[in-house]
Amino acid sequence: MRNLIIALMLLLLLPVGANAAGVENVAPEGRKRVVVIDPGHGGPRPGKVMKDIAEEHYVLDVSKEVRKQLRTKMSDLEVYLTRSSDSAYHEKQSEDNKRRAEFANRKGADLYVSIHANAHEKTSVHGCEVWVLTLNERLMNQNQGQAARYADDGDFIDPKDIDRTSQGFMMAVARQLENEPFSRFFAEECCRNMSSYGLKNLGVKAGPVFTVLYYFEGPGVIVELAYLTNSNDYAYLSEKRAKTEMATAISDAIVSYFKALDGNVSESVSEQTSELVESAEAATAEVAEPLAEGYTIQLISSTVEVDKGDYQFKSYKGRVELYMGTGRYKYKYCYGSYATREAAQEELMRARETFKDAYVVRYKDGRIVTK
Ligand SMILES: [Zn+2]
Repeated sequence: MRNLIIALMLLLLLPVGANAAGVENVAPEGRKRVVVIDPGHGGPRPGKVMKDIAEEHYVLDVSKEVRKQLRTKMSDLEVYLTRSSDSAYHEKQSEDNKRRAEFANRKGADLYVSIHANAHEKTSVHGCEVWVLTLNERLMNQNQGQAARYADDGDFIDPKDIDRTSQGFMMAVARQLENEPFSRFFAEECCRNMSSYGLKNLGVKAGPVFTVLYYFEGPGVIVELAYLTNSNDYAYLSEKRAKTEMATAISDAIVSYFKALDGNVSESVSEQTSELVESAEAATAEVAEPLAEGYTIQLISSTVEVDKGDYQFKSYKGRVELYMGTGRYKYKYCYGSYATREAAQEELMRARETFKDAYVVRYKDGRIVTK
């Protein structure tokens, strides 16, 4: 049932997200663009410490350099750092991350960039990568083990702890659909720029539910500069030029990102949007299997059989089901499948925008039943 609710929510939200994505991320005239840079860790949490490098200090230096560079590269951009000293928002990491997201929300950030350095138990793993948020059920489950492994440190939300029926989750899903193409566009730019300094490009990744990205309301990423645990990456990061180069890679990506947006969204962003919509539709189609019995919304009934793909059903493409009833108008065209009447009722208001006489009916084994 949970899956079904999500699937239906997604289907309903998709057209909104897809259309809005091209429009809402363009700042209204006169409003300044805002970017929030988040130097990861700080305060009680140093992050990864490797020989002379402590992640918390390293990423703070890089973040400050990004801000400095942006002042000349894009002087009308407002740049905020979530921290500018060795501090944190909260002693608990999950709360700390959440408050960083809330800080960015309060600033009205158009883009959120959290900067980290990476670590791995296998010292051979190396390269730069950028993470984006996904709430795709399959990807979340696939990474559940990984998320659970880190659950204590609060960087991730364990998918088990997410209430899929909560309004907060629904809103996060809606936001993600809208933001993901933008986050990915920036992430790709950033990876490309960082790898131009000789780091292996591990690309854009999605999987664990990052606390900070989950609570941030706009496009956002987590940049992992390179692996402190790999000797070559470590040697590079220790070089004097590295901090400036990494900051250049990130600030250039920020500039390209806003240029693309101000050019009324570059073609590649729109392409990614439609790809995303298609893949989300495919993913939701898998879970949108109707229940064997339950409640559905009857759009029309007819004396003759009509095609489920008929033009009048264009708003419910691929979702219309035919159920048989009794009497002259025995062909009942319905959509949605709900375990309870209340759940169907919630959806009814939306259906009535296109079919004003729609109402909730009970069905069982392909037939409309009265009880
Ligand atoms: Zn980190």
